[in-house]
Amino acid sequence: MKSLILTEKPSVAMDYAKALGNCARHDGYLEHDKYVITWAVGHLVTLKMPEDYDPALKTWAFEKLPIIPEMFDYKILDKTKNQFFNIQKLLKRSDIESILIGTDAGREGEVIARLILNQIGIMNKTVFRLWTSQALTEPVIRDLLRDPEPAENYDRLWDAGICRQKADWLVGINATRAATAKFGSGEMFSIGRVQTAVLALIVDRRREIENFKPEKYWIVEALFKNEKGSWLGKWIKDNESIIKAKDQAEAIVLRIKDKTGLVDKVEKEQKKQAPPQLYSLTELQKDANKLYGFTAKKTLDLAQALYEEHKCLSYPRTDSRVMGSKNLDVAKKKIDLLQKDYPDIFKDLVPGLVSLENKRVFDDEKLTDHHALIPFQAVPAAAKEDEKKIYFMVLKRFAAVFHADYEYEQTIIWTAVQDDLFKTTGKITLKEGWKKLYQEKSEEDTEEPDEKLPALQQGDAGQVLKVNLKEEQTKPKPDYTEATLLTDMTNPAKYVSDAEMKRLFKGDIGLGTQATRAAIIETLIERSYVERKVKKLIAMEKGCFLIDNIRKYQTISILAFPEHTGKWELELERIAQGEERSDFLDDIKAFVRTIIEELKKSTTQYQKPKNILGKCPLCGLDVVETPKAYGCSGYKEKGCNFKIWKTIAGKNISEKTAETLLSTKKSKKLKGFKSKAGKNFEAALYIDDQGNVKFQF
Ligand SMILES: [Zn+2]
Repeated sequence: MKSLILTEKPSVAMDYAKALGNCARHDGYLEHDKYVITWAVGHLVTLKMPEDYDPALKTWAFEKLPIIPEMFDYKILDKTKNQFFNIQKLLKRSDIESILIGTDAGREGEVIARLILNQIGIMNKTVFRLWTSQALTEPVIRDLLRDPEPAENYDRLWDAGICRQKADWLVGINATRAATAKFGSGEMFSIGRVQTAVLALIVDRRREIENFKPEKYWIVEALFKNEKGSWLGKWIKDNESIIKAKDQAEAIVLRIKDKTGLVDKVEKEQKKQAPPQLYSLTELQKDANKLYGFTAKKTLDLAQALYEEHKCLSYPRTDSRVMGSKNLDVAKKKIDLLQKDYPDIFKDLVPGLVSLENKRVFDDEKLTDHHALIPFQAVPAAAKEDEKKIYFMVLKRFAAVFHADYEYEQTIIWTAVQDDLFKTTGKITLKEGWKKLYQEKSEEDTEEPDEKLPALQQGDAGQVLKVNLKEEQTKPKPDYTEATLLTDMTNPAKYVSDAEMKRLFKGDIGLGTQATRAAIIETLIERSYVERKVKKLIAMEKGCFLIDNIRKYQTISILAFPEHTGKWELELERIAQGEERSDFLDDIKAFVRTIIEELKKSTTQYQKPKNILGKCPLCGLDVVETPKAYGCSGYKEKGCNFKIWKTIAGKNISEKTAETLLSTKKSKKLKGFKSKAGKNFEAALYIDDQGNVKFQF
C-alpha cells in the first residue's frame, strides 16, 4: 500500500521526489515504492461566481442585489482542470491507503488542499498533515514523513480559511457590484473587507495633509562656553521649548545676550536598549522598504525565493517575532553552521543568550503557526543581489538577537541664565552590543549621533557666546510609504482595545494577514485608487470619491473605518484558534443586505477627472481628452474649435504624441499613416499658426 502526497506546486513535489529517490515520472505525478507524489497548481477549486448560480447574473444590475447563495458551491478551475483530474484518478486508486497533505503550512495551503479533497472525496482514506516551518531539504522531508500529524490538528485553520473566503466573497461581490452600478459611469469600483479599510487610511492621510495649516513657532538656543568646553542649550519652560509668539522669543534673546549662565543641575543616567526582535514577514517588509525602497510584494517574492529555491531561509509567511522552546536546538545548530560562513557577524554573539531564558527570542506564549524568519544556511553565490540583501537582513537580525544590549549614558545639563532655563542632552556609548551590526543608517533614521559634552558640574559658570533665534513651522504627517502603511495596518492599539482581544492575537495583528498585505497594496494601485510616487503611496481622486461616498451610510461605512474591519479580522482569528463562531457568516449576510438597502438611495455619480494633455495653442485653455479627439476645453464657453483628432490618416495618435505636439508644436517622425490611395507613409505632425494639425514630410 502507498501514501499519496499532495503538494502545492510541482517544484515542491520535485523536492519530495529528490529526498525520496527512485521516483518514476508520470503525467501529473511521481511514483515511488511507498509514495505517490502529486501537486496542485495553487487553487484548483474555487467558489462559484454569481453567474454560475444564475446566468442572468452575468450583467451587473443593481436590482439583482444582494446575491447570497443558499449553499456555497465550488467549481473546478478551467485552466488547471487536467491536474485536478490527475489527482482524482490517483485518489481512486485502491493501492493508496492514506493521504499526506503537503501544501504550504498556512491557512491558504490548508484551504487549497482541503478544497481539492472535499471536491473529490477522500474515499475512506486516512488524512495526515506534513507541517513545517523549515525549508524542504532532504533531512527535513525525511523527518516529516517519519512522523506526519493527523489532519484534524489543522481543522480550525481550514474552518477559518473557508469562513474568510465566504465572507470576502459576500462582501466583495455585493459591495463591488453595488458601488459600480451606483457610482460607475463606466468605472469599476471594487470594494473589499480589507482593501477598502486600507484605502481609507491612505485617503484620510491625504486629507489630513491637504487640510493642514502650518503654524510658525520659534526656538531659542544659547551656546555656552567656559574653560571645560562649550555646550549648546535649548530654552525650555514647563517642558516645552516651542515659543508661539515672535516677540516673546525676541525678548528672551535680549535678556540672555552676553550674560553668564550657571549650571543648575547635571543628570546622568545609564540606559540599555535590548536588540530588536526577530523578523516577522511584515517587519521585514517595513525595514526593506526603509532601507532599499522595496515594495512589500517585492520583499515577499524575494523571501519566497530564498525559502523555496535557495532553501536558505525559513517559511516566510509568518507573523511571529519569536521562536518556540522546541526550536532551541534548531537555533543552536544554525548558529554553529552559519558562524563558519559569516564569522564577522557572529563573532560577538553571547552564547549564554542562546537559551530558553531569553524570552525575547524563545517564547511559546507569543508563537503562532510558524516561528519568526531565520536563516537556515549560507546564501548561495548564485542568488540575485536583491535576494542577498533580504537574506543578510534576516541573518544579521538572527545574530543580533543573541548579542548584548546596547548600553549608553544619557546626560542632561540644565543651565540657567537668571530665570531662563536651557536644556542640553548628550549621549555617550558605553557598550555597543548588538548595535555593532547596525552601523549604516537608513535615510529615515532620525536618531541623533552621540554628542560629547564637557564634564560640567553644578555651579559651573558659562559665558553666553552666541544666541540663535530659529523660526520653524509645524509640519503635517508625511505621506504614507509602504513601511509606515504596514505599521498602521499592524498597529494593535489602533484596532484592538481590550486585553482579551490582545491575548487572541499573538503575532502581527490588524488589517489583512502577513500573506495578503503585499497583494492588497498592489490591488489598490491597480484599481487607480492609490498611486505610487517613488516610495510614497498617495490616494487618487477615485479612491477619495469611494471613501467619501460610502461614509455617507451608516452600515457600509464600516468598511471605511479600519477599527471596525479590524474587529472582523479578530473574529476570524478566533475561529482559527478553535472557537466556535457559527453565527459569523449570518452576521455578514445581514450586513450585505443592509448595505444594498443603503446604496439604493445613492445618486452620486463619479466624474472621472479630465485628462489634461496641455494648453490650447489658440486660446490657452486646457486641452482634454474627448471620445474622438484631444480638444480645447473652451469649446462650449468660448467656441474655440482647436482639436487633434485621435485618428489621423488611419493612424492612432497616442496621448504622448498629443502632449508633445501641444508643448513643442511638432512631433517626431511617425510611421503607419495611410494615404487615401491606400499607400503607407511616414511623416511628422505640426500645428500651424491657425491651430491646424498638418503633415511635415
Ligand atoms: Zn482653445
